[in-house]
Amino acid sequence: MDNEFITLTIPEKKSIALIAHDGKKEELIKWCLANKDILSKHSLIGTGTTARMITDRTGLTVKGYNSGPLGGDQQIGARIVEGRVDFVIFFSDPLTAAPHDPDVKALLRIAQVYDIPMASNKATADFMITSSLMDKTYDHNVINFKENIRQRASTL
Ligand code: PGA
Repeated sequence: MDNEFITLTIPEKKSIALIAHDGKKEELIKWCLANKDILSKHSLIGTGTTARMITDRTGLTVKGYNSGPLGGDQQIGARIVEGRVDFVIFFSDPLTAAPHDPDVKALLRIAQVYDIPMASNKATADFMITSSLMDKTYDHNVINFKENIRQRASTL
């Protein structure tokens, strides 16, 4: 099947999702302060508490969705599916159990499906934000969702 994938373009001005678990919020706020000039060139969104705290502490405008445990991660995942999120910085806490762990896994999974760059720790975020691709467009191949339905409906 030669139309299994479609080419989508991550634009120069990216929609960046910012999320941090409670034990990682301070680290993400400091990271945002250190990278404020770059982040201010893009559109920023985030889960509710993270977005509010980043805005309060850095002055960056971050559109907030619901808090993570109340579905905020799922809202960001849905925006990825709709092609409205290009880049995810998610400082998750590997040492603390979260009630919304399934939502966190779902977000990781959907970012993989749609080939969205996603950092789950500071080192990865540092490499990503300093990439020369940050201020360029980037073409990537994503599963052709329409063709996928056509093919499944005709063979299952
Ligand atoms: P919060 O959600 O920004 O509302 O704290 C983040 C999360 O726990 O996924």
